[in-house]
Amino acid sequence: MKIAVINSGSSSLKFKLFDVQRMQLLLDETVDHIGEQNSSVHNHHEAIESLHVNFNEIDAVGHRVVHGGERFVDSVFIDDAVIEAIADLIPLAPLHNGANLEGIKVVRQYAPNIPQIAVFDTAFHATLKKEAFLYALPYEMYEKYQIRRYGFHGTSHAYLLQKAAAMLGKNVQDTNIITLHLGNGASACAIKKGKSIDTSMGFTPLEGLVMGTRCGDIDPAIVLYMQKVLHVSATEADEILNKKSGLLGLCGDNDVRNIEQRSDESGKLALDIMLRRIQKYIGAYMVLLEDVDAIVFSGGIGENSQRVREAVMNNKILKKIKSLVIKTDEELQIVNECLEVLKR
Ligand code: AMP
Repeated sequence: MKIAVINSGSSSLKFKLFDVQRMQLLLDETVDHIGEQNSSVHNHHEAIESLHVNFNEIDAVGHRVVHGGERFVDSVFIDDAVIEAIADLIPLAPLHNGANLEGIKVVRQYAPNIPQIAVFDTAFHATLKKEAFLYALPYEMYEKYQIRRYGFHGTSHAYLLQKAAAMLGKNVQDTNIITLHLGNGASACAIKKGKSIDTSMGFTPLEGLVMGTRCGDIDPAIVLYMQKVLHVSATEADEILNKKSGLLGLCGDNDVRNIEQRSDESGKLALDIMLRRIQKYIGAYMVLLEDVDAIVFSGGIGENSQRVREAVMNNKILKKIKSLVIKTDEELQIVNECLEVLKR
């Protein structure tokens, strides 16, 4: 059996093909610069056509879909109604869901008989209770406009849970862990008895930890000040908070490899601010979980930077807790989710 995984972005399409029986990666192709000026690939249809794959050999396609809103609490077969629902969620994730949908539609046109499955980045956090997902805003902001915490990176946190439980020799439903997905985007998740009970990303992936180029938690009044006093437009504010902040904003570089080589004050300070935020979230989640079997480090930074891991754990309280390093594999998790859906 062969399952393809597609992560379709606005200007890129990542494609991986797995042989399920052998758990072997058969193909790994990325098409970049889709629709950009001077690019030879004008749209997602051409991107799919350019792949070196015979769609007749594929048994199912799993798509990463960033936002499942409140509707999708699990992975689903894609039909017309699902396509419509993903389209309805575009306002909640304008950059992502539209591009994810484009990938789904193109595969449908190109290979209409292959079952397609949507795997949502938000679904793992569907177990959050109201006290975890509601913001202290007027309640109608939630009721009328669905403004709430959704959480992201769910596919990664779900994969890390499975792996961590196996490494700890525990059943998933008995596992209490804090997972740290520390990549260019970063999020923490408190997992109690195998379920996400809190996570650091919120209504969008901007909230929470200090990331490569995103600020994470800030006082929301800063944005109002930028708009009212500094006359920064909404679009500019979006750009500042998402693309010009985080490590990049603090020290001019968003790659921890480079920052670790530096000896200047701003590089050290940027890392210290990032580390402190991680520790604050761990502290909060330890109180929510009460029992913590392990803290799991993952993502490009969590997997590779021993210095970051040691700095996080170098604390009287945290020293007593086991830490694990697990290489995340969102595509493999999507394959596993597809297999579950195909069994239904
Ligand atoms: P990801 O988004 O998970 O691919 O993570 C990418 C980030 O991981 C890069 O921007 C780096 O900051 C970080 N990274 C990758 N390799 C290393 C390394 N060997 N040491 C420290 N950080 C690393």
